[in-house]
Amino acid sequence: MITESAPPSTLPPTPTLKAVDGIADEFNPRLSAEARFDEAAERLGLDDGMRKVLRSPSREIIVHIPVQLDDGRLEVFTGYRVQHSIARGPAKGGIRYAPDVTLDEVRALAAWMTWKCAVTNVPFGGSKGGVICDPSILSPVELERITRRYTAELFEFIGPEIDVPAPDVNTNDQTMAWIMDTYSMHARKTVTAVVTGKPIDLGGSRGRTEATGRGCMIVIDQALRRLGLDRSSTRVVIQGFGNVGGMSAKLMARAGFKIVCIIEFDGAVYNPNGLDIPALLKHRKDTGSITDFPGGQNMDREEAMFLETDVLLPAAHENVITSKNASKLRTKILCEGANGPTTHFADPILSEKGIFVIPDILANAGGVTVSYFEWVQDRQGYFWNEQMVNDRLEEIMVNSFNDVVAYAEKHGVNNRTAAYMLALDRVAFAIKLRGIYA
Ligand code: GLU
Repeated sequence: MITESAPPSTLPPTPTLKAVDGIADEFNPRLSAEARFDEAAERLGLDDGMRKVLRSPSREIIVHIPVQLDDGRLEVFTGYRVQHSIARGPAKGGIRYAPDVTLDEVRALAAWMTWKCAVTNVPFGGSKGGVICDPSILSPVELERITRRYTAELFEFIGPEIDVPAPDVNTNDQTMAWIMDTYSMHARKTVTAVVTGKPIDLGGSRGRTEATGRGCMIVIDQALRRLGLDRSSTRVVIQGFGNVGGMSAKLMARAGFKIVCIIEFDGAVYNPNGLDIPALLKHRKDTGSITDFPGGQNMDREEAMFLETDVLLPAAHENVITSKNASKLRTKILCEGANGPTTHFADPILSEKGIFVIPDILANAGGVTVSYFEWVQDRQGYFWNEQMVNDRLEEIMVNSFNDVVAYAEKHGVNNRTAAYMLALDRVAFAIKLRGIYA
C-alpha cells in the first residue's frame, strides 16, 4: 500500500501546540492560511465583498459515523469535508486520517487546495476531508468500515462534477478503491472519476504515486537554474520519508542530487557524500526504522533541520518551520513538499534571510495535477502512458513556477505572496465572470 504521506507507523508526534479551534496561536493552520490570504488580498486591492467570499469555505460538512470494531464494540468517529470553493470547477482535495485532525486544519487545507489548483491552472476548486481516528491501532477491516460509512454519509456531496476526493496523510490507493466502490454501489453504476489516486487497475493514472515527489523535483530544478546551481553539487535535506519525502528522495537521488540527510519521526540519518536512497528504503522496510543505517550516521532530528544545505524539503506535516527556529535554517532553497510546513510567523524571517522559498501551494501541486489527469482519463475512458503523464506534469509545473517567480519580481513580493496573489486573482476573476446567484 502506498500512502500519500507518512504511513501510519511513521506518524509524526503531535506538535505540542496543536491548534484548538478558535484559539489564535501560531500553530493553527487556519490562521496561517488566513494571514497569507489577507496579505495577498490587501496587495491585490480586492474589495471587501470579494474578500469575504474567498475567505470563507462554501460548505462544511461534519459527520459522526458509527462503526463496529473487530471486537464487536460500537465506536463513533467524527469526520469532516470542507468545500472551500467551486468557482473554477468541482471541489478537489484529499482525505486524511489522524487522531489530531481538527476542523480548522481541514478548513486551511481546503483553502490551500483552491489556491493550489488556481496557481497551476487546473480547473478545480478546493476541498479537504479528515476523519479523527488513529490508523495505527485500527485493523484494515475497521479502516474499510470507517471509509465506507464516511463515503455513504457524503454521498450527495461528492461526485465527478461535485467534489473529488484523493489520498492524503494516512490514506492511500486502497482507501480510494473503497470510496469508489461504495459510491458506485449507491449510484448503481461504476463511477471511477469520483476519486483520484486509485489503483491503476481501477482507473488510476500512471505516474500518480510519484507525482508529488516528481513535481517537487521539477520546481527544485527550476530554482537551481535561477540560483546558478547544478544537480550534482546540490545537497538536499528531506524531512519525512513517506510518499512525498520518500518518492522525492528516490527520484532526486536517481537524477544525480546528493541527498545528505533524511529526517523521520524516530531519528535522522546523515551522509555528507549522499545517502544510497534505495538501500535506505530497504533498511527501513527490514528494520522498521531509518536509524542505524550502515550507509550513514545517526543524527539528532532537531540539529538535522539546521544542517548547512542547498535544499531543505519538509515533506511530512504542518508547523515544522516556526518563529522559534526559522532563523536557524541554513538552506538556500526551501521547497515545501508538505502542506503548511511553515507558519506565517516564520515567513518574514525566511524573507530576511534571503531563502528562496517554493511555497507549498506551488511545490506540492504535482499530486493534484496528476489527479486532474486521472479525472480526465477516467471521463474519457482512455488512458495515457507514463511518459505522457510526466511530460504534461513537467509542462504545468514549469509554467506555474515561472508564473509565480515572474509575478514576485514584477510586484516586488516574495514567492509565497506572489503565489497567493496569482491564485486569488484567478479565483476572483472566475467569481466575477460567473456573478453571484441570488
Ligand atoms: N492530498 C494531495 C494534496 O494535498 C492531493 C490532492 C488531490 O490530488 O486531490 O495536494
